[in-house]
Amino acid sequence: MDLGPPPLFSLINLKRKAHFRNSKQVMRIKNCYHLLIWRGKLLFGFNDGKPFPYLMNQRTTFTKKLTTYIFLGEFENKNVFLWDMSDSSDVLGNTGQIGSFNDADRNYHPDLPKGTYFCDLRNLLPVLNSKYANLCATAKGMYEWHKRVNFCQSCGGKLSSEKAGWEKTCIKCNFKQFPRIDPVVIMLIKRGNDILLGRSHGWPEKMYSCLAGFIEPGETIEAAAEREAMEESGIKLKNVRYITSQPWPFPASLMMGCTGEAQNRSLKIDKDELEDAIWVSKEQVFRALNGLDKSIFMARRGAIARYLIEKWVAGLI
Ligand SMILES: [Zn+2]
Repeated sequence: MDLGPPPLFSLINLKRKAHFRNSKQVMRIKNCYHLLIWRGKLLFGFNDGKPFPYLMNQRTTFTKKLTTYIFLGEFENKNVFLWDMSDSSDVLGNTGQIGSFNDADRNYHPDLPKGTYFCDLRNLLPVLNSKYANLCATAKGMYEWHKRVNFCQSCGGKLSSEKAGWEKTCIKCNFKQFPRIDPVVIMLIKRGNDILLGRSHGWPEKMYSCLAGFIEPGETIEAAAEREAMEESGIKLKNVRYITSQPWPFPASLMMGCTGEAQNRSLKIDKDELEDAIWVSKEQVFRALNGLDKSIFMARRGAIARYLIEKWVAGLI
């Protein structure tokens, strides 16, 4: 069945042009855009309140001082480079929420164009235009990898960035490391007219979403869905079906969205994993999605959980 447009980050409109990564000429490419990131927050401009990644035609004084760049690929016929200016101490605004689930603070640099702000990508999901989403997801995911992976997994030596940021090589033993993603299964668990929704510790109040978990070595997507459902909620799943996937760069997940049929209704919640889990009827989900029921809030727009829930309410999955 045609499910319509894909989840927010899954509209692939960035041409990666991997052959450019090898080239020593990559920095001499003309027709470029430059994107800035500071402590995990991309630089955005706003048009009538709607955010867009602020793509500069020229390297600014900041990027001219920086030496490590990442070539993201071609977007809107221009080659996009990401520059990390996290070391800058001149960025202003509140910093207390950086890295939290809900960082709504906007930070700014006095020498950057007025009206541009460093913003948390996750916080902007409900208002981000899908045409910018995959570029932002790639930039954020690559930033997170560069931030975390700095030492050789083999000998502990320092790594140097190669291939326009897509490879890191140990300066001692030459071991190579590549950007990794973590596969995660996320399940819309159905039983009759209801779905099972859960909430993790520390989530915004009343927010519920689909159950999810990391796929382990040796598992299939289906096996991971069955195991996670049983471990977290005591539900035995059958007929697990893969629906679609979504990059989720917080920091490195690839979400694999599935549906499955619950064989039992009584719950045995693992309180270490989940704060709560409840069965919710299609009518209540519909009301919650449309702001008519304030007792629960669905996963926010842009998350694949929200996508799965909306498709289920529409009778498509
Ligand atoms: Zn090494």
